[in-house]
Amino acid sequence: MSAIEGILAANRDYAAGFRGPSAAVPKLALVVLTCMDARLDPYGALGLRVDDAHLLRNAGGLPTEDALRSLAISQRFLGTREIAVVQHTECGMHDFDDPGFRAELAERSGVAPSWDVPGFHDVEASVRDTVEIVRSCGWIPYRGFVRGFVFHVASGALTEVS
Ligand code: ZN
Repeated sequence: MSAIEGILAANRDYAAGFRGPSAAVPKLALVVLTCMDARLDPYGALGLRVDDAHLLRNAGGLPTEDALRSLAISQRFLGTREIAVVQHTECGMHDFDDPGFRAELAERSGVAPSWDVPGFHDVEASVRDTVEIVRSCGWIPYRGFVRGFVFHVASGALTEVS
């Protein structure tokens, strides 16, 4: 059975016990920008329930243009006010060769990516940079409660860095 067949089977059980939709507005008025890493369970690690927060995930938990777009939509239309940036130890974006990756994609596909999202050499510095980019983004109306954290994949602990 493929992974997708597995999730379809799981959804049949989920839908059978589904208690109806929650409100679209996150109860905690919170957005978490974090990495897509499979070791990072934002619900478990941060004590969240499914309708508590918006979760924005990408490779690295980095402030890409799309992440900033989603933050703007979250605040302007869905009432969120606080932003937590959560990056993590042992991230695949640590020392990532983004120019090399983009060059490879361009060579293989014939189309150069329009994005340029560099990796980082120091996760704490990356969190600080990300928080600063979010705090200085004029698209986002509420920037007074932006905090940055590192999740440690070996211990499960979260430490605040910014
Ligand atoms: Zn990561």
